[in-house]
Amino acid sequence: MSDATTCAVVGGGPAGLFLALMLARAGVEVTVLEKHADFLRDFRGDTVHPVTMRLLDELGLFERFDRLPHSVVERGQFDVDGNLYTLVDFSRLRSQPHPYVAMVPQWDLLDLIADAAQEEPTFNLLMQHDVTGLLRDGDRVTGVRFTSPDGAGELRADLVVGCDGRTSAVRRDAGLPIRDYPVPFDVWWFRMPRDQQAQFSLIPRTRPGRALIMIPREGYYQIAYLIPKGSDAALRARGLDAFHRELCEMIPESSPEAITSWDDVKMLDVRLDRLRRWHRDGMLCIGDAAHAMSPVGGVGINLAIADAVAAAGYLAEPLRTRRLTAKHLAAVRRRRILPTVATQTIQRVLHRVALTAVLQGRQAARPPDAVLRTVQRFPALTAVPAYVVGVGLLPQHAPDFARR
Ligand SMILES: Cc1cc2nc3c(=O)[nH]c(=O)nc-3n(C[C@H](O)[C@H](O)[C@H](O)COP(=O)(O)OP(=O)(O)OC[C@H]3O[C@@H](n4cnc5c(N)ncnc54)[C@H](O)[C@@H]3O)c2cc1C
Repeated sequence: MSDATTCAVVGGGPAGLFLALMLARAGVEVTVLEKHADFLRDFRGDTVHPVTMRLLDELGLFERFDRLPHSVVERGQFDVDGNLYTLVDFSRLRSQPHPYVAMVPQWDLLDLIADAAQEEPTFNLLMQHDVTGLLRDGDRVTGVRFTSPDGAGELRADLVVGCDGRTSAVRRDAGLPIRDYPVPFDVWWFRMPRDQQAQFSLIPRTRPGRALIMIPREGYYQIAYLIPKGSDAALRARGLDAFHRELCEMIPESSPEAITSWDDVKMLDVRLDRLRRWHRDGMLCIGDAAHAMSPVGGVGINLAIADAVAAAGYLAEPLRTRRLTAKHLAAVRRRRILPTVATQTIQRVLHRVALTAVLQGRQAARPPDAVLRTVQRFPALTAVPAYVVGVGLLPQHAPDFARR
């Protein structure tokens, strides 16, 4: 392995792999360092939105994507006293070639992008490379330090892009100031057997004190079960039987006894934060490394990918011609800050108005009657939240050099 590259991308998640694919298609030498041995990690969101599928079209990858096992969700519906109300209708997004949400195991999507990137001669993927810190020359970042099965090593780079998610080592070492927002819940993440007839929705099922989202995967449901922040130990102490009873109430069509041990239930610490600055000399953060997203709305992957598209657009040419300046790096944040702040603000409002009361057991989530009456009378209005979630502000298009 060479000890130098043009762009070192830390983290092979959605942000890192999409960025690396597009830079490699522009002829930039790019090396992705991913700490795990594969992409087969369970605790990744699975929602691919219309805006991302249009991007896959532009990259010439949609047909391959469409062949992956996936479920299609066209609507977000809410069950009120046995009546189903459609609140979000993606099928009304007539401007989108794929007006639905595709639920695709994220490892399949990442494998696809990594395979497409491997076709480019300037792309390198280093699995089991855990980045432990940044190399510096004075104030300038000049590469990364890592550990791998072969021991410790260093990789020098013109630019380091931190795409290493919510616990980013890159942003920590760079000392970029972070703004944290309180989140009222954590997530228990586990599987349950899947009944093919069962209804699933992007809108959570709720009971006073509880909320969950069911993600359909081949042969099972992935469940995201919301618990009040910090209550993990106390809830586990009540025992598995109490948990089984709650699940029976919330998902009568599945079999909670399939969870035989607390080891089957993973605790995910949910965070919502944002860097005030996304770059320093020689480094940049994008995706969750720049702004950790709550799972609410299932938008984090799509936002991370949009960051990657913007970054590729601003950085490919200066990287290729070795004329990269701080101005190019600052342009990425300038382009992406509005959609980021808007999305996080909506998530924070939903945490406050919809989830806090539910998790405190004060009420089951239920949209106000006025909202239910309005969507019944004017169903076309359901296209508005569909656009906000499925397309979002300032949607990104693939730069010409990345299109196939
Ligand atoms: C419980 C939960 C459920 C969610 N569900 C959804 C959903 O359904 N839909 C959705 O759109 N969003 C969802 N999100 C948000 C979404 O997961 C993130 O916004 C999205 O994954 C961000 O992508 P990323 O590429 O920036 O980071 P990540 O997906 O976190 O990828 C980071 C990558 O970097 C690697 N890495 C980390 N540290 C290092 C290191 N030191 N060296 C090398 N590699 C490293 C990791 O292994 C990982 O592969 C959810 C979030 C949570 C917490």
